[in-house]
Amino acid sequence: MAEEDCLFCKISAGKIPADIVHETEDVVAFRDINPQAPTHVLIIPRKHIATINDLTADDSVDVGKLFLVAAAIARNDGIAEDGYRVAMNCNQAAGQTVFHLHLHLLGGRQMKWPPG
Ligand code: 5GP
Ligand code: ZN
Repeated sequence: MAEEDCLFCKISAGKIPADIVHETEDVVAFRDINPQAPTHVLIIPRKHIATINDLTADDSVDVGKLFLVAAAIARNDGIAEDGYRVAMNCNQAAGQTVFHLHLHLLGGRQMKWPPG
């Protein structure tokens, strides 16, 4: 998919509104439109990367930042100590529906394992 057609590129560029909770030069985080937990935030690189399968070594720093931002938001939302889950779906079998890399941050309720 071309970047101009990508939903999360549009959110990153401010062309589609979102409840943004964190924004830097490289990373944007916003609340999921259909939250599956009291805290459900999507953390994305500004760079368009479709799936985990498309990552290259050049993306390592950006991917690391996704986790640092997740931990910071978890602290801000008061869920860091109780615990939370981060998840990234890759392709159809995992249920990926938006093909711009995103880390889900889920918390504020008890998580089950294994996930469905
Ligand atoms: P995936 O299933 O690809 O791992 O996750 C995509 C997520 O994006 C879903 O949880 C879905 O609710 C969320 N989502 C889809 N469209 C929008 C939107 O327009 N705005 C926001 N904030 N979240 C969206
Ligand atoms: Zn994109």
